[in-house]
Amino acid sequence: MTEKKRIAILGSTGSIGKQALDVISQHSDLLTAEVLTANNQADELIAQALKFKPNCVVIANKDLYPKVKEALKDTETKVFAGSESINDVVQLDCVDVVLTALVGFSGLRPTVKAIESGKVIALSNKETLVVGGEYISRLAVEKRVAVLPVDSEHSAIFQCLCGEADNKIRTIYLTASGGPFRTMSLKQMEEVSVAEALKHPNWSMGRKVTIDSASMMNKGLEMIEAKWLFGVDSQNIKAVVHPQSIIHSMVEFEDGSLKAQLGMPDMRLPIQYALTYPQRLPNNVPAYNPFEQGTLTFEPADIERFPCLGLAYQAIERGGNVPAIMNAANEVAVQAFLDGKIKFTHIANIIERAMNTFSYVQKPSLEDYFLTDAEVRQSLEQEYK
Ligand code: MG
Repeated sequence: MTEKKRIAILGSTGSIGKQALDVISQHSDLLTAEVLTANNQADELIAQALKFKPNCVVIANKDLYPKVKEALKDTETKVFAGSESINDVVQLDCVDVVLTALVGFSGLRPTVKAIESGKVIALSNKETLVVGGEYISRLAVEKRVAVLPVDSEHSAIFQCLCGEADNKIRTIYLTASGGPFRTMSLKQMEEVSVAEALKHPNWSMGRKVTIDSASMMNKGLEMIEAKWLFGVDSQNIKAVVHPQSIIHSMVEFEDGSLKAQLGMPDMRLPIQYALTYPQRLPNNVPAYNPFEQGTLTFEPADIERFPCLGLAYQAIERGGNVPAIMNAANEVAVQAFLDGKIKFTHIANIIERAMNTFSYVQKPSLEDYFLTDAEVRQSLEQEYK
């Protein structure tokens, strides 16, 4: 019998976490969930622990610890509380792969700890690379740790690069669905509701990334993620709107050849590839059928109507702690929009103002990223509480 790959899922009650557990269920001969963590969804975490029998679980919200502890008292699963505990459980000997499915900046510290302990990273938390990409990529090389992308576009690029060794990349085409407001004017976008913004045409995802998709900030974040994952200059990464979400991204090489990866828009595909890499295994995800769903179209990405994308280009150019400022401002602005406190179009205004206000650090240390994030967050949260 082959040894099972032992997985820690950070954020197991979120959209990616649940789909990862589905993948693990389908391949229980090869994969096992050893660590599960959640912020507030205690009931879901308890149900997952009873089903998957992990070595331990973490409930980040300490108030919910007694509830989880009590529910799992007759099992062998250990229960820890507090988000600091996530930094400890990623280092456990019983973990081979850490799937980082936390939302936003909160993924940075646990990812650093996991890499320091030599764990393979299945990276779903793109904000980690947006903020600390330079640091993380250097650390991963130093510790000889593989960072396997879970984000569908980056999984596609990674798959296109398999077998290409040192062949130079000319252009990466990051595909974008365009989100629910693809054909709207900026004026129309002023009046959209939270429910409309959460209605993604193709993908089923968590709330934060769905709003980022509607504003196209998601594509901006993904450009920065791609720069660090694949070591490509930002000028060589282009966003292209592809409303069908069948081509998950493309890579053009020096001979003018383009490789693309296609599949149905279902996150279980890239999750499975990251967890079972380099193997491809059967699953119950429907496959793309070119005879039934034939037409694939492309449009340029419009930074006039989607100013968040333009702001992300600026953040890559300026470097230093600017992506960290942009990311923190975006996280606060998205939450304020979800809470009904600001208009959708206001998200870009808040980010732009933050990028022009907070102090610039050209060569940030790891701690500088935490300081920048805390400074931006505290200041903006006061304003939009
Ligand atoms: Mg993506």
